[in-house]
Amino acid sequence: MKRLSVVDAERCVGCQCCMFACSRRTNSHGLSESCIGVRSSSGVEHGFIVVACRVCEDPPCVRACPMGALTRTEKRGIHLAEEKCTGCGSCAEACVVGAVYWDSEINKPMICIQCGFCVDFCSHGVIEMRERKAADDAK
Ligand code: SF4
Ligand code: SF4
Repeated sequence: MKRLSVVDAERCVGCQCCMFACSRRTNSHGLSESCIGVRSSSGVEHGFIVVACRVCEDPPCVRACPMGALTRTEKRGIHLAEEKCTGCGSCAEACVVGAVYWDSEINKPMICIQCGFCVDFCSHGVIEMRERKAADDAK
């Protein structure tokens, strides 16, 4: 399956266009609904960290959910069954890279659905939809 991949974080200028695009996908303005995150690694001179769900082979977020609300799918990455979710936050704590974002209005996690919508909005070639192997999860 193709997954959203950070192919060259060194090229990230911190514009957050990917975040705006992801938020916009759900008709939200601003950045609050984004399932991809860009943050400074410690001051602009040190560059940026781009955090997106890696669709782990054996996802810690899925294992951590006491309600069975998360499943790993081949086409859309991690799927949330909202009706099962109690908003406990265990998935966000368990994610190895901090890729479970939070919708505080409804108190539920937001996890990338691997649609690739954000890719076209990054004009710096930082992110791509790319085939990934299990071994890539460590990167
Ligand atoms: S917040 Fe929801 S999806 Fe996450 S672990 Fe708790 S019940 Fe599961
Ligand atoms: S949300 Fe985090 S733990 Fe879950 S599959 Fe994505 S990267 Fe892995």
